[in-house]
Amino acid sequence: MLILFVLLSASYFQVEAFESSDEKSVEKFLSNFYDYNEKSDKLSDAVKNIQKMAGLPTDGKITKELLAHVEKSRCGGKDSKKKSKRYNAAQSKWDKGQTYRFYIHDERHPTTMSLGEIQRALIIALNYWSTAADIYFGKVSSKQGSMFSLSFADAEHKMYDVHNNFAESRDPYPLDNVPGNVLAHAFFPKSGNLHFDSAEEWTEGKDDGINLRVVAAHEMGHAIGLYHSNDPKALMAPWYGGYISESDFRLPDDDSQGAISLYGNTKNGKRFVRSDRAKREQSSNQKELCNTTNINSAFQFADGHVYVVTGNNKVFRILLKNHSLIVDPAFKTIQLSNQIFDSDALLYDYSGRRFVVFKGNKIFSANGLELENMALSELNITRFGAFQGRVNAAFVRDKAGKSNTLKFWALQDGELIAGRVKGNQVKFSRRTTKLSEILKMPTGTKTLSNIDGAFVLGKKDNKRLILFVGNSVYVGNPNGRKLVKYSIPAQYPKTFKQIIHC
Ligand SMILES: [Zn+2]
Ligand SMILES: [Zn+2]
Repeated sequence: MLILFVLLSASYFQVEAFESSDEKSVEKFLSNFYDYNEKSDKLSDAVKNIQKMAGLPTDGKITKELLAHVEKSRCGGKDSKKKSKRYNAAQSKWDKGQTYRFYIHDERHPTTMSLGEIQRALIIALNYWSTAADIYFGKVSSKQGSMFSLSFADAEHKMYDVHNNFAESRDPYPLDNVPGNVLAHAFFPKSGNLHFDSAEEWTEGKDDGINLRVVAAHEMGHAIGLYHSNDPKALMAPWYGGYISESDFRLPDDDSQGAISLYGNTKNGKRFVRSDRAKREQSSNQKELCNTTNINSAFQFADGHVYVVTGNNKVFRILLKNHSLIVDPAFKTIQLSNQIFDSDALLYDYSGRRFVVFKGNKIFSANGLELENMALSELNITRFGAFQGRVNAAFVRDKAGKSNTLKFWALQDGELIAGRVKGNQVKFSRRTTKLSEILKMPTGTKTLSNIDGAFVLGKKDNKRLILFVGNSVYVGNPNGRKLVKYSIPAQYPKTFKQIIHC
């Protein structure tokens, strides 16, 4: 009888020891990581989910151990309620057999580590996955063309649409931006966003602070398609397991199995992050374009990227990097079957999201967001002016403004005709303008007359006028405010091969 009394009072005290504030913090934790709804879900059942994930006895009670897990530093991603004690692979994954290009943003980086140390830690983290499964990574030096973007972020922060020219939007999941608690989060495929809390004391090589390498390896697990594992020893367990030195770290079996289930076994047992492979892929596209003698057209498309179409209707994507053009390794070249680019001239109407295509004395609009699937419709020329229907090139004259009117120059026999398109109507000016009025050549060089193609690249102050004349390329910088004029620096012309670094 006496023994029974002691047991009862012990359990009585244990329940009493945890106040309603503990219950509140457990509920908050549950709603953050388990989609808990305090109105419809039973707290003790929900607590069991945390206990399963943490490898604790599943009695549904709020214990010291449970509260320790509620307080512990962890990943900001949600925990799934899946019961099996192993890895948990998402439905989505990246396409196999390519190098996953990653870019490391150097903004907001922690002061506790140098940029070199940060890069090294992140690269080693990705390496853990390459060692386990058939996944290869390559570091690239511009976010354009990357698939994964790793950044340090404040509470409210941006995310990037890696599939849409890195368009920025507000990440709907803020970070807590305090030391501890949520350390980082990442998105499942195919997003490519990995965000590390800028408020953490990120470190490497010591117990103090939070180890960037280990956390990055966990987040990369999400980015390649793994959910949280309820194997407490797994890297993909939601809680931060503490510092493990580089020499002691092995990717746990549970995580390797998860990665292999998505991407297959690593080919020769050990792979490393290699930027050479990314470079090789880049250079094979580059080589093909370098061997092309005939450039049909070049333009900046709706996605913000620059494309070059060769004479045999093959499309390459180009990156503008430090004023030079390189072939985008991220873009698989396309062979077009449509005839849009087989034209006298074309220009891209940014605000209208369409091409204006010049063919003989007709002008068409080509609409669509995919280059392969564009619908052509003829525009109505309501005033021909000086337009005689055989232009050599056309390019945007002025910023489109709010009027939805696209103003352009059409080049005809070495003279410019001002034109404008609004809706399906095109009008041309009656008078012509000499090219020399808007284009200043280097001293001692003649004004160009036989331009094959022209396009305006970039926006505002970064605008460039790119002119193709036979195999030569001229890049003009803007000057003048009212009417956009350009001047060609003395180093031009260059050959197309020079421009794209063949
Ligand atoms: Zn996580
Ligand atoms: Zn985020």
